[in-house]
Amino acid sequence: MIRYSLVCDKGHAFDSWFADSAAYDKQAKRKLVTCPHCGSAKVDKAIMAPRLASAKKDQAPIEAPPAETPAAAPAAAPTTPVAMISPQERELRAKLKELREHLTKNADNVGAKFPEQARKMHYGEIEHRSIYGEATPDEAKRLAEEGIEFHPLPVLPEDRN
Ligand SMILES: [Zn+2]
Repeated sequence: MIRYSLVCDKGHAFDSWFADSAAYDKQAKRKLVTCPHCGSAKVDKAIMAPRLASAKKDQAPIEAPPAETPAAAPAAAPTTPVAMISPQERELRAKLKELREHLTKNADNVGAKFPEQARKMHYGEIEHRSIYGEATPDEAKRLAEEGIEFHPLPVLPEDRN
């Protein structure tokens, strides 16, 4: 028996056993070797990294860097995303808040019925009016696919608790 490390055309790596290398060749030719992850029959032997190549080679040692080379930068410490909010940013946030307040004051909150209501309006089953509510990403996608125009309600960071 011989074990081959294989890789499919989608990049899935897997191992498979064959009676011998000829058996692998025969099965691969007849598209009988398939990827267990996606079923693709376009598989190839994975290129094995030659582990011993560099260790065994009798290479000349790499010379030490000349003295003027700056010392290697210290390893970067883990960071945390931070932000400074500019006055423009503050203004934008205020505008977003205003827009949201205006929208919620002047539109009907239809909650989870939003997709249904938006669809009825789009197809003329009910009168057009301003509404807002909730839609799951799936529903939002379907509405967009049907050509129904809607806009995400601006959400301000402080609204999320
Ligand atoms: Zn695959």
